[in-house]
Amino acid sequence: MLKAQLTKQPPAGMPIIVQKYGGSSVADVARIRKVAERVRARTADGHRLVVVVSAMGDTTDELLGLAKEVSLDPPRRELDMLLTCGERISMALLSMALHELGVPAISFTGSQSGIITDESHASARIVEVRPVRILEELQAGRVVIVAGYQGVSRKREVTTLGRGGSDTTAVALAAALQAEVCEIFSDVDGVFSADPRVVPEAHRLASLGYDEMQELASAGARVLNAQAVEWAKANGIALHALHAHAPGPGTRIPGAGAGQVPVTAVASDADLLVLLVRTETLGALLSVLAERRVRTRFVLGQAAGPSADTLVAVPLADVHGPAALLAELERSFGHAVRALSGLGTVTVVGAGVGTEPGRLATTLSTAAVLGVEVHAVHTGPLHATLLVSVEDLPELTRALHGLTDGPG
Ligand code: ASP
Ligand code: MG
Repeated sequence: MLKAQLTKQPPAGMPIIVQKYGGSSVADVARIRKVAERVRARTADGHRLVVVVSAMGDTTDELLGLAKEVSLDPPRRELDMLLTCGERISMALLSMALHELGVPAISFTGSQSGIITDESHASARIVEVRPVRILEELQAGRVVIVAGYQGVSRKREVTTLGRGGSDTTAVALAAALQAEVCEIFSDVDGVFSADPRVVPEAHRLASLGYDEMQELASAGARVLNAQAVEWAKANGIALHALHAHAPGPGTRIPGAGAGQVPVTAVASDADLLVLLVRTETLGALLSVLAERRVRTRFVLGQAAGPSADTLVAVPLADVHGPAALLAELERSFGHAVRALSGLGTVTVVGAGVGTEPGRLATTLSTAAVLGVEVHAVHTGPLHATLLVSVEDLPELTRALHGLTDGPG
């Protein structure tokens, strides 16, 4: 999937910057105007700009709410027709705002931008980028505004890239256009050691590696999309996460070369479906998930239980209609697959957190001291994940963050 063909043809002597503005950064007209000012300032120093936008504020959630009112298991194709409208609104308004400032601009949908994806509605993967029209417009001196989160399949169907997918659009375009940098703007000044709303003492990370960032993103940190980071790593794209409407140094991914300080950060995820699966049924279950294009976060063998069971954790963000999925699993597998409700994960990310027994022991004893029951542990070279009750997430996140090294 990362072997996407990129039509690389950077126009000579034309340094390109790709910027991406998240939903909260373009939540209303006043903020769209501010973004336009920011874009104008960036073009003033001789750069050509491609600006990827997300849907305004909570538009995507609102559209999903509408869909849910009509159907609990909406056809994914129709969902994509609906959800792609959100980004079309912001791209057109930003382009208009730039025109008002006297900056020549043009907006494109994902399809017009040459973002070609597979057929997997609601969680499509980019397979090729052909930014022919974007290059033409850049050469003509226009700022190009691109609707994030969407593409078109080879069958000319409109697709979306999964929640938070505008980051992926930005990184894929940065790779195809050989941009100098991909700047990701949101309502926080970069990547923090934990969600500052949960952990007030969380600090900004000046830089971190692709792998740590990918772990954090898949563990529930919403600041960057995990697939976007995967793309950036595969194509060597430098990411810079910044606050859209406040000054600040932000976070650079990857950091500046060898001097990179090892980081530790904590993220939690409550948007998870946890399945307990009889191990002999695991293959069949995974096939059903694959048919539905549902991804897994982790599969963990031999969980505690009456028989040899396996835990399968499924991120719910792109499962539009979990009730329908559960009903299907019930029909197909009966008691061999059970959903465990009310569970979420706290993940500590950093080199050694999952592989040094002493550190893992401290992590577990911290949970024990709080009286938090740990249902399962999943570790890897860069992470330690504890499966706990959703109610315990904030407190455990704060406590585990307390074990990490402070800023500096
Ligand atoms: N608007 C989409 C979402 O909310 C895509 C994005 O924000 O990146 O998931
Ligand atoms: Mg959004």
